[in-house]
Amino acid sequence: MAGGAVLVTRRPTAWHAATVADVRAETPTAKRIELDVPTWPGNDAGAHLDLRLTAPDGYQASRSYSIASSGEGTRVLLAVDEVPEGEVSPFLVHDLRVGDQIEVHGPLGAFFVWTPRAEESPRPVQLIAGGSGVVPLYAMAQAHADAGDASEFRLLYSVRTPADVFFADELAALANSGAVELDLVYTRAAPPEASLPPGRLTPERLRGAAVPADENPRVYVCGPTPFVEAVSRWLLDAGHRPGDIRTERFGGS
Ligand SMILES: Cc1cc2nc3c(=O)[nH]c(=O)nc-3n(C[C@H](O)[C@H](O)[C@H](O)COP(=O)(O)OP(=O)(O)OC[C@H]3O[C@@H](n4cnc5c(N)ncnc54)[C@H](O)[C@@H]3O)c2cc1C
Repeated sequence: MAGGAVLVTRRPTAWHAATVADVRAETPTAKRIELDVPTWPGNDAGAHLDLRLTAPDGYQASRSYSIASSGEGTRVLLAVDEVPEGEVSPFLVHDLRVGDQIEVHGPLGAFFVWTPRAEESPRPVQLIAGGSGVVPLYAMAQAHADAGDASEFRLLYSVRTPADVFFADELAALANSGAVELDLVYTRAAPPEASLPPGRLTPERLRGAAVPADENPRVYVCGPTPFVEAVSRWLLDAGHRPGDIRTERFGGS
């Protein structure tokens, strides 16, 4: 396929019954949740879904969650960080059990997805995550590795401490295999081997770690709303074209 055509798979969006197949600790504040969704149509890397809980009295609450898995399977992987005082995430992190039945609506988000492209000159891909915003970006990085895709992939991941890194083993494996170049920015506590002391991502650190604008990268940014807005501004200031920056905001202020 020539001309950079995207291998898009059209998938119907619908509500699906899901059974919790596995729940395990991801970080001290987050859980990795695997759902068995027999009617799931598959999803591209980066997509999300709406998850709906129904209480015994009929009260319902739904929230969006990115999907850490991609492809055609009927197992759907999520990773949920607890927002203290939140309505839904504390339940998912503390009370959800294997065998519980929930509902999911999706897959959603055709704009914020990455699929392998057949290009004569593959463009680099720069992923930039804040906190749990790494979930869809991990899915993209894993899909890139699984596809043997030729484009350069870099992930810049801003996270509080080493213990807060989502998909730590998987990301280390992707980095060790050379599929993804991983740059971690620790905001509160850095491990001894870190090259920089802890501190928030700044325009200077972004410029130092990200693929430069003149290399024409596609950029995906995901995380809390203030993080995404700041990073998007810095990317534009650094010369990245608006059309090359795709963003997903997780909320918060
Ligand atoms: C497309 C999309 C994908 C998402 N994917 C993920 C994911 O993969 N993993 C994940 O953990 N979350 C994800 N989120 C966030 C998620 O949808 C919920 O917003 C989050 O779990 C909080 O829900 P809650 O009911 O616990 O809090 P709420 O009761 O909705 O909110 C409580 C308070 O927390 C604030 N708040 C809400 N969300 C956040 C946030 N993300 N950060 C900081 N403060 C917040 C609210 O403004 C409010 O003041 C995603 C959001 C979107 C829009």
